[in-house]
Amino acid sequence: MIYRFVVGTLVLISSLPTLALEIDAYRLVDLSHSYGENTLYWPTSPTAFEKQQLAYGISDGGWFYSAYSVCTPEHGGTHIDAPIHFSAGGDSTEKIPLESLLAQAYIIDVSKKAAADRNYRLTADDVREFEKEHGEISAGTIVLMRTDWSNHWPDAISYLGDDTPGDASKLQFPGFGAEATKILTEERKVAMLGVDTASVDYGKSQDFIVHRIGAAQGVANLENLTNLDQLPATGVTIIALPMKIEGGSGGPVRVVALVPMYLREVLRVIAEASENTESEIASATTANAERFFAI
Ligand SMILES: [Zn+2]
Repeated sequence: MIYRFVVGTLVLISSLPTLALEIDAYRLVDLSHSYGENTLYWPTSPTAFEKQQLAYGISDGGWFYSAYSVCTPEHGGTHIDAPIHFSAGGDSTEKIPLESLLAQAYIIDVSKKAAADRNYRLTADDVREFEKEHGEISAGTIVLMRTDWSNHWPDAISYLGDDTPGDASKLQFPGFGAEATKILTEERKVAMLGVDTASVDYGKSQDFIVHRIGAAQGVANLENLTNLDQLPATGVTIIALPMKIEGGSGGPVRVVALVPMYLREVLRVIAEASENTESEIASATTANAERFFAI
């Protein structure tokens, strides 16, 4: 009886589109690396992250005051690629629609394959297998490829495969494959791709075909993400807000994942409406609820 009530409530709650956003109902996961002196940039980047102290200490007025100036190439650290990065008519950074930057996400886990082959590329079969288990990927969503490469950050040799300044010809790390990218961007029409490596194209790429396929479809990319191992495969909302650079081809981005804690919320609602305690209801339903929602 309790089980039926819970399932009915789960269905009801999951079908309510107009619920106010209650942050307490989500686990927040930071998917961005900090910017600092260890931030990794493409080997051909002429500069890296620069932070200069303008003031630090007790001011003439007697209060503490600190301020810095910062300077960074767009494409280093956790950053976004605007479509114009690889498509002449594509949106520049400030024009990327907010609907692309705040969207539902799917996380395709190929960490085991990447661990076995550091030049692994996401295949069309990987996408099909994911969809067989989780359903077809919806338009306007974000697809994140999880390799767990962020564990190597910020060691340039293990993360990028090579740290020769000015030479990007010997890089080795995983990325998306061309066929998988075509399915995701041309057929499924996702809004954004993301990866926990330095590039959506794998390190060996010299033609940046994944960037080109996606940019032609107006797709933006998130690169150098972290903490993807803390996300379930589906049900996640991503908020990825880059610095709003006019005419930019990308830029630093703070990416946050909202992972719903439906079970906790449902238990609270049911406990309030019934004479059972949360723990009694939980022990009767947890296993079933977890099957419905990747908690
Ligand atoms: Zn980039």
